Amino acid sequence: MNTVFLGPPGAGKGTQALLISKRFRMRHISTGELLREAIEKGNELGQKARNHIDGGHLVPDDTMIDLIRKVLPSTGDFLLDGFPRTLNQAEALDEMLSTERRKLDLAIYLDVSDEIAGQRLMGRHRADDRPETIRERLVVYHRETEPVVDYYGKTGRLRKIDASPPRERVTETISQELGAGK
Ligand code: AMP
Repeated sequence: MNTVFLGPPGAGKGTQALLISKRFRMRHISTGELLREAIEKGNELGQKARNHIDGGHLVPDDTMIDLIRKVLPSTGDFLLDGFPRTLNQAEALDEMLSTERRKLDLAIYLDVSDEIAGQRLMGRHRADDRPETIRERLVVYHRETEPVVDYYGKTGRLRKIDASPPRERVTETISQELGAGK
């Protein structure tokens, strides 16, 4: 099952994606991680991404779509964590896969309130987890990424999961969804 994880920053996408990708032997691709690595290395991608990330904004679609084109495995199931974040990206992913006669099967939407998301982010220690950046990322999420949730809903691939319970319970709920779709 080729899967994407959606949800606001702080929903637990990264944590759950790690656990689930191991359990179901899927290739885990976190665009946020890839960008942070690129910044660390100081390469061209890192230089392009740095200011956007620091400001709590999205890295431009063309950069992100190029990146995904490069890292998406050509065989085996994948779990995308942090991509797509815009409607453009979601459509580009569908196109990319359809040219290879493949498809995205499932979008797992980790739903939490802004309040819980904000609290969880405040408990982390990442460079882009400063209060004003957190606020901006939540605003960007509602404006740019919520339409992606609707897009997968309309195409019958969305599974909405309450991500406010403790981590273990959320992992079980996601596992049931993935298991059921096998
Ligand atoms: P994350 O680790 O998924 O929270 O991503 C951290 C930051 O990387 C985001 O706030 C964005 O600035 C950037 N980023 C990650 N994935 C994407 C994407 N698909 N499109 C645009 N920007 C992204």
